[in-house]
Amino acid sequence: MPRKYENIAGVILAGGKNSRMHGEKKLFFRYEEKTFLDCLKECMQDFDRMYLSVDLAAPYQAAGLPLIVDHYPESGPMGAVCSALEECPKEAVFIAACDMPQLKRETVRQLTETYLQHPARITVAAEGERIHALLGIYPKSILPELKRRIAEGNYRMRDFLKSRDAALVQLEQGDHSAANINSVPEYLAQIGDEPVDIETAVNLILGSTDPVSETEPVTLADALGRILAEHVRADIDRPPFPRSPLDGYAVQAADTEGAAADRPVSLTVIGKIYAGQVFDGVVGEGECIRLMTGAPIPEGADTVIRQEDTDYGEDMVKIYAAQKAYENYCDAGEDFKCGDILLSTGMRVTSMAAAVAAGTGSERLSVLRKPRVAVISTGDEMLPAGLELTPGKIYDTNLAFVTGRLTELGGTAVTGLHSMDDTEGMAALVRRLASDHDLIVTTGGVSVGEKDIMHGVLEALGARRLFWRVKLKPGAPSLAFIYENTPVICLTGNPYGVMVNFELLVRPVLVKLSGGGVPAGRKECRQLSMDSPKRGKTRRFLKGIADEERVLFAEGSQASGTIASMAVCNCFIELPAGSSGKKGETVWVHYL
Ligand code: AMP
Ligand code: MG
Repeated sequence: MPRKYENIAGVILAGGKNSRMHGEKKLFFRYEEKTFLDCLKECMQDFDRMYLSVDLAAPYQAAGLPLIVDHYPESGPMGAVCSALEECPKEAVFIAACDMPQLKRETVRQLTETYLQHPARITVAAEGERIHALLGIYPKSILPELKRRIAEGNYRMRDFLKSRDAALVQLEQGDHSAANINSVPEYLAQIGDEPVDIETAVNLILGSTDPVSETEPVTLADALGRILAEHVRADIDRPPFPRSPLDGYAVQAADTEGAAADRPVSLTVIGKIYAGQVFDGVVGEGECIRLMTGAPIPEGADTVIRQEDTDYGEDMVKIYAAQKAYENYCDAGEDFKCGDILLSTGMRVTSMAAAVAAGTGSERLSVLRKPRVAVISTGDEMLPAGLELTPGKIYDTNLAFVTGRLTELGGTAVTGLHSMDDTEGMAALVRRLASDHDLIVTTGGVSVGEKDIMHGVLEALGARRLFWRVKLKPGAPSLAFIYENTPVICLTGNPYGVMVNFELLVRPVLVKLSGGGVPAGRKECRQLSMDSPKRGKTRRFLKGIADEERVLFAEGSQASGTIASMAVCNCFIELPAGSSGKKGETVWVHYL
């Protein structure tokens, strides 16, 4: 049993601006099947407590560790170390940066044992002269000095460590514990040319994808489903005046004191108004006006007696019930007040939200422009529906699916094209489309055959490859690259592989691009109601039908080139690598 280190807290630094990661949260990137978070948690399990240091809590709630929000987000890692020391109820903190997935548990122990030999001395990892400030132990006693340095703007960790004569623990040759990943290219260099899992593939594309930021004014009707680009603020009260919630008589409450069925109070009716009309006078003592639901309560009156509690009198009225002031009285601004923020930037406009906007009198809303998505199906053998089938040809289903799915999900403007298996022609097409599209999705030509042109296209364009091949079935050969800031996602030609990879890979990118205008997919843990048709070594997504009671595999072929049964399917059933998919097994069901 390794010992537990009771007086030291483990702190993973996950904050920072991550600018070279395009804002991606590195903690959730993957290294050898595990997230960076899990890699680090495993190495730091000997500490009694573990925390996550972050600059913003929201993205990290899912990490399952207590969070320390950086008090000094402008002061680099020193700010995070300082905040950790302030917040942790321990004598010292063990600090590791979140982007060191190769950290070893043994290295953590070595550092800790060294520290324990001379506690109160900072202990950090080093490789020769190079000091790794973000892998080491900092005692609480340094807190005043850290605060002073931060206040003076003198927060470089390296200068600080030099001044403190820190104990250095030399990492052995080949120990990459402190190798940190600063940018997407560095990450790619780390994972090499290996197939990636789908979560990593998504992260890699998201890291190079910025949401559309241009806005446009549209009518309320056209705004449905769109993403608001600015707050909607009330410039009036609603209702604009105090109004009656029922049909009755507006009176001064004081006049009704003591009124009862056998002791009615009589008041003079000085006017009558319906909703939409205004009574100009003032209701005085002993007076009232007859008014209907929605009509403004006139000056002087402070309550409305419902007509059922009166004799419905026209010149004089008998009131049979006493009532307090401001009962049966809707204040001006009961719904919202001038200046209230009613709808916030970034929200999706629903019919309810459109109704609220209409309530302010707004006719138009400013929304995000829809991302423009170009779809290109490739293949010399493809024929569009409508032409006569000739030998060797087959009808194109991918173009219909991808453009159709985009339309069905909404939130994008779609262009669909077909290209022959011609590297130069396809490269020219991508070049042209990239200039006025936010995303390009292609199908076919990503495998290893002679006519698998997309690799050549990527080379001809001099584009930056993000990954090739994803660890799943069907549709493993997915390829993604960035050409002049436009993400290009190249899917297999196999139609079922296209469907699966569209949902898992393309859809999350659409969600980000559109700022949420395209809804995210939904998945749920369910139990299989039948055995899977066959077992597999790879993580698989099978055609399925799920209703309230059952989760079934589709009848007929599950092959990646077949889609006939998809016409009645409503989900993909995910079987993890190695699973035989037995009845009763709990699996993820991805709804379409
Ligand atoms: P590829 O990925 O280009 O090697 O294509 C794999 C398989 O999918 C081949 O059998 C193609 O004929 C078929 N395929 C490719 N593109 C399409 C498409 N747009 N519609 C239907 N089938 C396709
Ligand atoms: Mg092909």
